[in-house]
Amino acid sequence: MGCCDTKGLLSIKDAIQTMLADVSPIKISQNLPIETALGYVLAEDIRSPIDVPPFNNSAMDGYAVRRQDLAECDTLPLAGKAFAGQPFDGEWPEKTCVRIMTGAPVPSGCDAVIMQEKTESTADGIHFLTTKVKAQDNIRPQGDDLRQNEIVFPAGTRLTVRDLPLLASLGIRQVPVFRKPRVAIFSTGDELKPVGEPLKAGEIYDSNRYAIRPMLEKFGCEVIDLGIIPDDQTQLTETFEKAQSLADVVITSGGVSVGEADYTKNILESLGQINFWKIAIKPGKPFAFGKLNHSLFCGLPGNPVSAAVTLYVLVQPMLAKLAGHTQWQAPAQMQAVSKISFKKSPGRADYQRGIFSIENGQLVVDNAGNQSSGAFRAMSAANCFVVLEQERGSVEAGEMVTIEPFNPALY
Ligand code: AMP
Ligand code: MG
Repeated sequence: MGCCDTKGLLSIKDAIQTMLADVSPIKISQNLPIETALGYVLAEDIRSPIDVPPFNNSAMDGYAVRRQDLAECDTLPLAGKAFAGQPFDGEWPEKTCVRIMTGAPVPSGCDAVIMQEKTESTADGIHFLTTKVKAQDNIRPQGDDLRQNEIVFPAGTRLTVRDLPLLASLGIRQVPVFRKPRVAIFSTGDELKPVGEPLKAGEIYDSNRYAIRPMLEKFGCEVIDLGIIPDDQTQLTETFEKAQSLADVVITSGGVSVGEADYTKNILESLGQINFWKIAIKPGKPFAFGKLNHSLFCGLPGNPVSAAVTLYVLVQPMLAKLAGHTQWQAPAQMQAVSKISFKKSPGRADYQRGIFSIENGQLVVDNAGNQSSGAFRAMSAANCFVVLEQERGSVEAGEMVTIEPFNPALY
């Protein structure tokens, strides 16, 4: 345990660091067509096979000129046309201009394009309303965006919607990517019922898998969903065995809080080495992490908000490392004026659910609702966490607080 531990609680930072230290990236790679590569992590640097743009071309609809000609005469006869995909390839006589459209290659010798709005068509040719033109005006030079052989994406980049058109523009059809981490999940608890079945007395619906599964997919994992497992030694043991044979990581929810920890502990002790941690985070204090014989293991608390928060805050960085996603960044934090007061004593970092907005140019944050760790409604209404630091006490309305807008995993 590190320097910031209070009363046997492990700080979030130390927990994440311990988990990261225990994980090495999956180094198995494959080639995928770019159509299916969204969300995968690049296994190698991608270099541009070509200059982009591949030739000097016009940024405007207008006229290609030689500035020397224009300095001598403000009206130039038309010598021809250059369209996108149909270059001007004839002789270009001196003291003439060429009609050119956006994206068309500029004719050899052209050192500026004049936009058509600054011209008039006359009987003698094109009359230019301005003759003071900067060199290379309205010309997009070859290689301006990317040079051939330049690294476009370093290995470890996770491909986004914005990256795929760039790959396509370079003519790259396939990319080397790492296999996604495989994560087996299940919910534990005798009280849990699948959605769709009627509830008996004392039962609740298993809602955790409806957050855990899509979050994992958004983190870039493949999910193997093993459903709901009752608090039964034999069934839990069988499921843990199956899960670790199928996956790189096994993630459960429920059964790691006081009272149940010993029970799960017994099973897990025979299957590997697991640390049961009390982490200085609210919600989400009980959390388990370790290694089964064939996979990693994360035991999330059962309370729905606690499960979502611990998966997001503690497990997400570890899965990014496993996926080889070296460019992963923790969600950005910023300062906002709190519209509400928070009761808090130093000791645990508090991840309250908030709604940020801008009022009169100032970032402000409001409460998203009931902050109980079992109440998912405020999580659903929120767009950020209000992160009240471990050492911080109560907050009065009007004070500055740290907010952490949700990253795409929660959308
Ligand atoms: P546990 O960590 O197993 O003690 O559970 C803590 C609380 O979370 C209890 O109120 C459980 O009923 C509830 N809970 C556990 N698992 C789930 C789940 N999958 N979906 C909804 N609530 C859950
Ligand atoms: Mg339970």
